[in-house]
Amino acid sequence: MSGTFRVPAPVNEPIHSYAPGTPERAELKAALGRIGSQQVEIPVIIGGEAVRTGKTHEIRAPHDHDLLLGVWHEAGPAEARKAIANTVAARREWESWPWEDRAAVFLKAADLLAETWRSTLNAATMLGQSKNAFQSEIDAACEIVDFYRFGAHFADRIFEQQPISDRGVWNRMEYRPLEGFVYAVSPFNFTAIGANLAGTPAMVGCGVLWKPSKHAVLSGYYTYKLLEEAGLPPGVINFVPGNPAGITEAAMSHPDFAGLHFTGSTEVFQSLWTTVGRNIATYRSYPRLVGETGGKDFIVAHPSADHAALRTAIIRGSFEYQGQKCSAASRAYIPRSVWKAIRDDLVDETNELRMGVPTDFRNFINAVIDRGAFSSITGYIDRAAASADADVIAGGEYSDAEGFFIRPTLIEARRPDHESMCDEIFGPVMSIYVYPDNEWSETLDTVDRTSPYALTGAVFSQDRTGVRNALDRLRNAAGNFYINDKPTGAVVGQQPFGGGRASGTNDKAGSAFNIIRWLTPRTIKETMVPPTSVGYPFMEEA
Ligand code: NAD
Repeated sequence: MSGTFRVPAPVNEPIHSYAPGTPERAELKAALGRIGSQQVEIPVIIGGEAVRTGKTHEIRAPHDHDLLLGVWHEAGPAEARKAIANTVAARREWESWPWEDRAAVFLKAADLLAETWRSTLNAATMLGQSKNAFQSEIDAACEIVDFYRFGAHFADRIFEQQPISDRGVWNRMEYRPLEGFVYAVSPFNFTAIGANLAGTPAMVGCGVLWKPSKHAVLSGYYTYKLLEEAGLPPGVINFVPGNPAGITEAAMSHPDFAGLHFTGSTEVFQSLWTTVGRNIATYRSYPRLVGETGGKDFIVAHPSADHAALRTAIIRGSFEYQGQKCSAASRAYIPRSVWKAIRDDLVDETNELRMGVPTDFRNFINAVIDRGAFSSITGYIDRAAASADADVIAGGEYSDAEGFFIRPTLIEARRPDHESMCDEIFGPVMSIYVYPDNEWSETLDTVDRTSPYALTGAVFSQDRTGVRNALDRLRNAAGNFYINDKPTGAVVGQQPFGGGRASGTNDKAGSAFNIIRWLTPRTIKETMVPPTSVGYPFMEEA
């Protein structure tokens, strides 16, 4: 076949409302009933074959200890080694496919997800990761669709980049996928991150070993099945839920390890990077390391800030999905004059947020992911309550009786270096430091210095000077910066996402910056009529 094919121009997938009476609400409720009443057995998947290791773990809903959703089989180093050999072999055939055929698999997955798979992936995310319908919709439906449609489009734009050619020569750039395999390690908090970490390198021709988070195996499994239905050949992505240390040891000691596509905590990424450094002489190529990691995301208000907009951003930005977004606001700096005006309304509105199971659509807040998160987050709340340097002014209650529930909590910290202003808590906890109105400039310095992270941040100011000061002074404090908006909710194609400093390599998920990391170009020069003698004109006698 000949022709210069173009991937269809992408648009962001529309967000369904799930309002009462809509067909999508009825369909989602039915899927919740179906997935909530069955117990799925999830195998390791290698070369398209189900592998049941017999070492199983239960999947229970974070919001309901009694709700058993299934079991998954744990992969260890032996399965990881088998999966690596399989994916390295599968990649050879896959990379030889014409680009339009590989792109079509992912475009088909996007369309299947937008239509027939939407309610399944949403229900699995809502039940397995405790998300409400809206939070799941923007993640498991819209963002995955966007990653695949925009990913194919951006890859197309990269492939178009070609060098110039001089007379008698044709220069070309061939965008080869990485030689070997990419190790994709995904977190619990976004179904779309797993779909992207495994899917994007695969789309451009890499073979992928995908280790999902143990808390997102259910939605990860359905993501894999979606790709399978869309026509992804066996082995291009091998699905290996399992023991992180054992699988990592198998992956990172392998000569064909060609790249790490990671999202998760800073600590784990740093340990993986250290391992790569130690093993560097083992590898056939220098591995590409892409990691998006933790954050301590801020909202800083100027004395001119709009009160209602600031209050709304604090609540939505801090508490949606229980604050378990890498981008969630978790520290705010508010001038005393503004604080006086918004404090009581902010406290009341926070205390009114409805909490409970995600199957009751009236709930804004659901459960945190597991007992470890519950203990760590409540530890911060208890220490703040007991501290002379902080007050818990809203929420603060919690219970693990039925599920891991923590009320959205506001802490007023009297010191800008109180632990709740500095650490990534990764839960529904927002810490606020109230500063004297005349210390705007010093406050910007404090925002910049307080945390090692630089993921997201927002400034609220009606005065343009305030906006400019924050943009300048906080230039390196956030990879995604918001003006008069909450610091969460980045959309593929609109706000390419990623942070610097300890927050990651800033390769901007869902953009060309990321895709390019999975490609290793070959420059080809073809000379039409090659020279046949060695001498140059300057060598001739005058
Ligand atoms: P996590 O670091 O606990 O786990 C992430 C992944 O790493 C999981 O698959 C886990 O099994 C694996 N892992 C854990 N220990 C490992 C080890 N020793 N070796 C190899 N793999 C190991 O993170 P999480 O709790 O799933 O997710 C929350 C964290 O992710 C937060 O810090 C959050 O800020 C971050 N995050 C960042 C972004 C971003 O874009 N910057 C997005 C989402 C989440």
